[in-house]
Amino acid sequence: MGLLIVLFFGVELKLLKETSTSWAELKENDKREETPYIGGQVIGQAMPEFYDTHAHLDFPSFREEEEIVVGRAADAGISRIVTIGTELESSLRAIDLAKRFEGVFAAVGWHPSDCLGAPEDVRADLERLVKHPKVVAIGEIGIDHYRLPSMSGGSVSEDEAFKARQITVFRQQLEVAATLGLNVVVHQRAAFDTCLAIFEPFADRVRGVFHCFVNEPLAAQRVIELGSLVSFTGICTYKNAGEVRETLASVPLDKLMLETDAPFLAPVPFRGKRCEPAHVREISQMVAETLGVDLEVLSKATCATARAFFRGLD
Ligand SMILES: [Zn+2]
Repeated sequence: MGLLIVLFFGVELKLLKETSTSWAELKENDKREETPYIGGQVIGQAMPEFYDTHAHLDFPSFREEEEIVVGRAADAGISRIVTIGTELESSLRAIDLAKRFEGVFAAVGWHPSDCLGAPEDVRADLERLVKHPKVVAIGEIGIDHYRLPSMSGGSVSEDEAFKARQITVFRQQLEVAATLGLNVVVHQRAAFDTCLAIFEPFADRVRGVFHCFVNEPLAAQRVIELGSLVSFTGICTYKNAGEVRETLASVPLDKLMLETDAPFLAPVPFRGKRCEPAHVREISQMVAETLGVDLEVLSKATCATARAFFRGLD
């Protein structure tokens, strides 16, 4: 018991250095019945486990810190992380990370914003990439009409060419997914109808997770009717994201997954800072609250959904 108290005290002191949490808040947490969780750290008994089904651990903001970040996620009960590729090099780095860390898995593919750098036909490269046993899906792939060439001085015809190229690259990757029986991580921004129209002919062979879902409840319903899933980021914790919470509340418990999209979209109270997989903890709390279920129930449901969706995630 004495040793436990010393350990507990030591963790508190460490936390005090790492976060700006005051002694008073720490003591307050200490008194709570549930296990206190402060800034990516869990003190005391184990909390229910969660997975981060979408993070970009290969991005420059994590360089040289991957081990710390993965460790902090594990301490927070985040036992699996799917790190997502956005083009060839990024996908190769995702595979490397999956090789280095037991709880890290990779998705590989070309993000729509990176379609101009993709080979004319991505299928052969993609088929090679997915052979690695820790590749659990193809992604992220899709359609993005939010960032277009005209936003940075390009012409309308460049926009049209860019949009057409996105469609070709998206379709090629869906074809590989359909042929090899893999599921896909779908990115869409400001292009829901276009994206769904291209995805739909593949929906009998490929399931997709429409990640970072912020569309209305009806859109979520259309995705689910195709046998696919939606996943939610830290956006659901933002004060002004009432509509996202409304959509979240409309989704059946077994049709959703949790993700950070780290290093982006840190949840409250880390909003504006670098996001990391440990922050699934804060996201899980808001999702559980919004759905009116306890954390244990959310943990079981979302982890089972992710294991069924991602090949070899267990
Ligand atoms: Zn992403």
